Amino acid sequence: MKKIAVIAGAGPAGLTAALELLRRSDIVPIVFEADSQVGGISKTINYRGNRMDLGGHRFFSKSDWVMRWWQDILPIARGQMDSDAALRINYQRQSHDFLPEAAAPATSDAVMLVRQRLSRIFYRRRFFDYPLKLNGSTLKNMGAMETFRLGLSYGRAKLSPTSPETTLEQFFVNRFGNRLYRTFFKDYTEKVWGVPCGAISAEWGAQRIKGLSITRAIAHAVSSSFRHPTDIFQRRTETSLIEQFLYPKFGPGQLWEEVARKVMVLGGRVHLDHRVVGIERESFRLTAVNVRDEQTGAVRRIPCDYLVSTIPVRDLTGFLQPADSQVLEIADKLPYRDFMTVGLLLRKMNPTGNQHRRTSSNGMPPDTWIYIQEPDVRIGRLQIFNNWSPAMVADPDTIWLGLEYFCQEGDDLWSMEDARFIDFAAAELEKLGMIDRKDILDATLVRVPKAYPAYFGEYGRFGKVRACLDQFSNLYPVGRNGMHRYNNQDHSMLAANSAVGSIINGGRDKSEIWNINAEETYHEEIG
Ligand SMILES: Cc1cc2nc3c(=O)[nH]c(=O)nc-3n(C[C@H](O)[C@H](O)[C@H](O)COP(=O)(O)OP(=O)(O)OC[C@H]3O[C@@H](n4cnc5c(N)ncnc54)[C@H](O)[C@@H]3O)c2cc1C
Repeated sequence: MKKIAVIAGAGPAGLTAALELLRRSDIVPIVFEADSQVGGISKTINYRGNRMDLGGHRFFSKSDWVMRWWQDILPIARGQMDSDAALRINYQRQSHDFLPEAAAPATSDAVMLVRQRLSRIFYRRRFFDYPLKLNGSTLKNMGAMETFRLGLSYGRAKLSPTSPETTLEQFFVNRFGNRLYRTFFKDYTEKVWGVPCGAISAEWGAQRIKGLSITRAIAHAVSSSFRHPTDIFQRRTETSLIEQFLYPKFGPGQLWEEVARKVMVLGGRVHLDHRVVGIERESFRLTAVNVRDEQTGAVRRIPCDYLVSTIPVRDLTGFLQPADSQVLEIADKLPYRDFMTVGLLLRKMNPTGNQHRRTSSNGMPPDTWIYIQEPDVRIGRLQIFNNWSPAMVADPDTIWLGLEYFCQEGDDLWSMEDARFIDFAAAELEKLGMIDRKDILDATLVRVPKAYPAYFGEYGRFGKVRACLDQFSNLYPVGRNGMHRYNNQDHSMLAANSAVGSIINGGRDKSEIWNINAEETYHEEIG
C-alpha cells in the first residue's frame, strides 16, 4: 500500500510539496484547499475577464532551483529578450544562459513574460523615483531648501547614530536621517503594520532592507546604466532595487493552476472547497485529518502517514490541542495584518503632478505599482495590472487598477460594506487627482485575511510553539502562515521542498526547514 501525505492548502508551498513528492517518491499527495481555487495569496482572481493579482507578485528568486522550477512549469516567451541572444542569468559567480530554443513561442498562453519594473512614490501630489534617487528630478520635486534640510539631517544621523539600535524607527533614522525617514518611510510603513515604527523591532528592518543605504542606492543607479539588460537573476542586487522579474502571462495564479494540473496528471489529488477542520493523533504521531466539504458541510476522516500543513499556525495548533496551554495561548495571539484590494476598471486617468514621458494617451502611468505616501488618504499602494501583463485586462483600451489597503480584520476598513468601501476607495483616488469617478466602468473588492504574518507582540514567544510542533514526528508545517514567516513564494517553495526531502529520508530534525528564509534578504516589498 502506498503511503499517503495529506497536504493542507493549495498555495505555492502545498502545491510544491505535492509535485515534489510525486517526482521524487511513490507517496501519494492528497491536497485539501479551503478556497474554490488554487494559488493561495498567489492566486489570480478573474473578475469578468479582468485579472487581479493580490498584491502584484514578482517572480524572482535568488535560488537557482526555484528559477528553474518556475521555468519548467511556464517557459519564458520568445521575444522577451532584447535580441535573439541567450537570456543570461548570473548568480553567485555562476551564470546560466536560457537559450532562445528553450523559450516558448511568443503566441503561446502558457508562458512567463520578462517585465521591467517601474514603481514610483506619489508624495505631495508628485511622483518620486523609487528607489529614491538623489537626481535632478528629486531635487526639483523637493525644492532646493528641503533637499538641503534632508542632507543636513542625513549628515547629523551619520555623525551621531543612535546606539544600540533597537527599533525600526532608529534603524531608518540611522541610515537615512530623521527628515528623509519622516518624508518617505514612516507613513507607509505604519500604514502597512498598523503600529508606530518605534514599536517594531529593528531586526525587521535588518532582515527586510538589509544593506540598503543612500550611498548604495546611488551606486546602484550608476552601475545599472552598464548592466546587461537581460541579467534577470540580479543576485547581488538589493531587494528593493531589483529591476527585472518574471511574470506569468495571466498572473501568478496561472503558474499554480498549471502545477495543480501536473499534480493530478501524475496521480496526486487536489480537492478544492475542502477545509481541514481537525487532526487526530496518537501521542506525537498524527493518524488522520478531518476535512469538511465547504459545499455540502459533510466532514470526512482521511487517514494519513504524513501531514504537510500550510494553514495558519494558529489553526494548526488549535487542532493539535497540545497539553501545554501556554503554547495554545501564544499561537492564538500570533499577530497578522490583513489586506483589501479594490479592482477599478477605468476609461481613462487624469494627468497628475509630474507626468512620466511614457504615460499613455489615456493617462495610464507606466508603473507596475505606485507607493502612495500621502498622509490624507488611507490607500497604501496602487497596482496597474495592465503593466504587469497586458493579458490581465480584457479590453486593452481600459485601465485596470488595484487599490490596496492594509488593515486589521474587524477594523473600520475591514468591516465596511463592500459597495461603501469601493466608493470610499474611488473617492480617495479622485482626491489625489488621479481619476474622475465618472470614468469608472466597473469595480470589485477582495478581502485577504492573514495576508501578513507579523513579527511583533506574541511572536516574541514563537519558539515555544515551534518546539511543540517539532515534537510531532510526521507533521511538517511549511509556508508563509504555515510557519508564521514573512515568506515570498520562493521561500515557501524551498521550505516545502526541504520538507519533502525530510519525509523521503525519514529525517526527524526539522531545523533545516525552519532555517529557510531566516537570513534571506529578498522579500516582497512593502516598506
Ligand atoms: C500584498 C502581497 C504582495 C506579495 N508580493 C509577492 C511578490 O512580489 N513575490 C513573491 O514571490 N511573493 C509575494 N507575496 C507573498 C506570496 O503571496 C506568498 O509568499 C505565497 O502565496 C505563500 O504561499 P503559501 O503556500 O506559503 O501560503 P498561502 O499562499 O497563504 O496558501 C495557503 C493556502 O492554505 C489554504 N488554507 C488555509 N487554511 C486551510 C484549511 N484549514 N484547510 C485547507 N486549506 C486551508 C488557504 O486558502 C491558501 O490557499 C506577496 C504577498 C502579499 C500579501
